[in-house]
Amino acid sequence: MEGIESFIATLPKVELHVHLVGSASVPTVLKLARRHPGSPVPRTEEALREFYTFRDFPHFIDVYTMVSLLVTEPEDVADLVRGIGRDLAAQNVRYAEVQVSPYPFRRNGMPPAVITEALDIGAQDALAEHGVRIGYIFDFPGHTADVDAMATLEHALSDPPRALTGFGIGGIEGARAPYLDIIRDVFGAAAAAGLHCVPHAGETTGPETIWEAIGRLHAERIGHGLNCLADPRLVTYLRETQLPLDVCPTSNVRTRQVAALADHPLPRMLAEGLLVTLNSDDPPMFGTSLSNEYLVAATVLGLSPAELTALASNAVRASFLDENSKDSILAEYSHLL
Ligand SMILES: [Zn+2]
Repeated sequence: MEGIESFIATLPKVELHVHLVGSASVPTVLKLARRHPGSPVPRTEEALREFYTFRDFPHFIDVYTMVSLLVTEPEDVADLVRGIGRDLAAQNVRYAEVQVSPYPFRRNGMPPAVITEALDIGAQDALAEHGVRIGYIFDFPGHTADVDAMATLEHALSDPPRALTGFGIGGIEGARAPYLDIIRDVFGAAAAAGLHCVPHAGETTGPETIWEAIGRLHAERIGHGLNCLADPRLVTYLRETQLPLDVCPTSNVRTRQVAALADHPLPRMLAEGLLVTLNSDDPPMFGTSLSNEYLVAATVLGLSPAELTALASNAVRASFLDENSKDSILAEYSHLL
């Protein structure tokens, strides 16, 4: 066990699917909650851990939103990014693509330019203080696309943080249907502006959402995508195109999409020849970390060190880093095995 843990610790890693507020450490959330005593978010560690026990996916979204609404100051936003840098540096993560939902910050009175400045400061500090490079993906919840889709697109196009690389959609997949036209429009505009499109799809609904992401939302990677296995034609498509899937095993168990870690379809996805990457999603909310996801893949799902290294290099290849930066991380893997 110790051997595999130290192997994972030294493996250079890239994190492609992590959310800004969902990565806030427990002490950070407690500090914010104590500053806002009217919030339903608990102010003790024990109660917060209980609060992070999710009955189902919509309950998780409710909790995530309540925590997001604690972020009221630009300095909070910058602190969250610095916190990601600190936590990822400790796991030998070189680069992270961080999904930022600006809508709760806007609702708390922060104008887009102020949010952008805070994100720029945070990314600069994460690199200077922790050596972790940050890319941003702006996203919005599909279930509030009528309110948030266009505002998020406008923010992304007119006042982007310097490290903005992508555009995404999260929230409750099953509630996107009434807003599909606007969702397709904003993704079309984001893609036309050169942003990489990375929608969540097939996390809580079936293959049809993944087909929609591929066919209409310009998906260059799929957030989760685990329900692709229900459609052999989709599996064939994903294998042939090697469209990357951001897989987050502990997240799927904690939001009750998968009954137990041992049942996670990651090994089946690999056996099907899909391009899979391993990610932490909302690590403190799910009681995990990126290193822990690799440990779970090894100890619960039976992956070998060579397979873990392949997952890590998949993440480098599936990232939106420039080719030179990819090559310099990939070159390190040849020394590992
Ligand atoms: Zn996610």
